[in-house]
Amino acid sequence: MGRRYRTLRGFRDILPGETEHWQAFEQRCRELFARYGFREIRPPLVEPTELFVRSVGEQTDIVGKEMFTFGEGDESMTLRPEVTASVCRAYIEHGLDRRGAGRLWYLGPCFRRERPQKGRYRQFHQVGMEVFGEREPATDLEALALALDVVRAAGIDDARLVVNSIGDEACRPAYRARLVAFLEQVADRLGEDSRRRLHTNPLRVLDSKDEQEQALFAEAPRITDALCDACRAHHDAVRDGLARLGIPYEEDPRLVRGLDYYVRTTFEVRATRGLGAQNAVLGGGRYDGLVRALGGPDVPGLGWAAGIERLLLAGGVLDEPAAARLDVYVVTLGASPPETLALVQALRAEGLAAGWDPGGHGLGGQMKRAGRSGARFAVLLGDDERARGTSTIKDLASGEQFEGPGDPGAIAALVRSRISGEGAAT
Ligand code: ATP
Ligand code: MG
Repeated sequence: MGRRYRTLRGFRDILPGETEHWQAFEQRCRELFARYGFREIRPPLVEPTELFVRSVGEQTDIVGKEMFTFGEGDESMTLRPEVTASVCRAYIEHGLDRRGAGRLWYLGPCFRRERPQKGRYRQFHQVGMEVFGEREPATDLEALALALDVVRAAGIDDARLVVNSIGDEACRPAYRARLVAFLEQVADRLGEDSRRRLHTNPLRVLDSKDEQEQALFAEAPRITDALCDACRAHHDAVRDGLARLGIPYEEDPRLVRGLDYYVRTTFEVRATRGLGAQNAVLGGGRYDGLVRALGGPDVPGLGWAAGIERLLLAGGVLDEPAAARLDVYVVTLGASPPETLALVQALRAEGLAAGWDPGGHGLGGQMKRAGRSGARFAVLLGDDERARGTSTIKDLASGEQFEGPGDPGAIAALVRSRISGEGAAT
């Protein structure tokens, strides 16, 4: 016996029963983004390592310890741990600003070498958006509304939107100095990671997942008390807008993105069901300096990303596996397999999902397979039906059986009207 292989730790198969739920969610995302005027972009999964070092930041966990990197020096490449960097790179590389393509969305796998837990994997999927060239708070507001639409599309009804502002280059330096002074006072009670970050990336210290540290930070100076007039006005406009749109939200002055080109609005959506500690389903913010930092034009940007595994877990979407689904299963007597397949193909050409038994079993064997196939109807063709130019149609849910047409187009029309009648009735 050969060795039996298994997926690597932190990697998962998405199996039939689950893929149908993914497809349905992805379809709802496509529709939502289209309604908001966003167009899809599909960057490659591998990028130059340097792109992530520059954009995500050297001091982050992602770049510091979570990247899957191959090759050396100039050849060094990395499986994308997130997609914003790739979208910015593509935006600059193809001059999308000149093509008026400033609203982009994406969906696909990301890779991080993390310790796997529920809702935390080494390959996971993000759906997200970026908008370039829009500076006004109304854009932040619209992005938040879209974020909540996507979260709801995953069936999540306990979502909490948390917002903050982290200021800009005018007000953040002074705040950072006050924060460092505060953190130095409590440094002996901070963990190793936080002590190290205290000087490299002090805002990020506030993002610690350690509960004892979080208790200390209750006394920390708040960025929202230190905003300059322009940032204050922007933040107030976002909050007023949320109130006007009737979108409930909470404020959390500890919600930060610890990188210099992140400015003003930051946000997160948290859900509780099915997730435990991994309760952040979506995160994002404004990054007006990023495109420029990556060598592009001086255009503002804003984006968010949601983890699809977490969305579907929190929405309960995966609680029930999706059943196999066929419209019809063709059962024949006295027909050769190619003759049966010809009818099956004619029904498929009419748009029906059709199954059959290529194994040449008798009536009983074919009916058993029809039952297992998840088909709504069996279409039976024997000598009688062939002689009369009809078929016998059996509703596999109710057991009801009746005479149907022999022509594939007419069979398809009948089956479709039956199925849509059920749809209307429920
Ligand atoms: P966390 O604090 O849970 O580690 P994060 O701050 O690293 O999240 P982001 O980089 O903002 O997350 O990524 C956006 C979203 O992607 C997260 O809100 C989450 O839903 C999802 N996500 C991030 N890392 C993973 C992972 N390892 N497995 C599954 N989903 C993930
Ligand atoms: Mg993380």
